[in-house]
Amino acid sequence: MIVAATTRTQPHHSMGVVTPVHRFLRNEDKAAPEGLHDIVPKLWVHAARPLCCAHCRQIVTDDHARIEVRGMHDHHCENPQGLRFHIGCFANAPGCATSGEETDLYTWFEGYTWVIAACGACQTHLGWRFSAAGGGERFFGLILDRLVQAPDASKSH
Ligand SMILES: [Zn+2]
Repeated sequence: MIVAATTRTQPHHSMGVVTPVHRFLRNEDKAAPEGLHDIVPKLWVHAARPLCCAHCRQIVTDDHARIEVRGMHDHHCENPQGLRFHIGCFANAPGCATSGEETDLYTWFEGYTWVIAACGACQTHLGWRFSAAGGGERFFGLILDRLVQAPDASKSH
């Protein structure tokens, strides 16, 4: 029984079955098997795309850091000078440098103090970091038109 012997010597999945999906995931098949065509593009969409400083292209945060605060991701805010900002809320923004003293003066989020958040590379003002009074929860409110999406690597050639 040559067929049976050959089958036993081949590396196999722990379930004992190598399906077209396994071969695709291990890069053995170039094309996605039937049934995966619908899934693969969605996986690409859900990969975290970096968001960069629009001025210098330093990576500031990414799409996965987007959060909702008070039920919304983005907020339209106006400062005491009448300047309007369209901000998005992010759980973190490693590319930002914060400066100044925590203050709750004119805060847009009641119960939160804020400091200025600027690009860590070029110091362009990108938004604010908000901290729950008394410490604990923090998030960044970043001015959305000062961020750009990093170019999609899969479309760069
Ligand atoms: Zn910058």
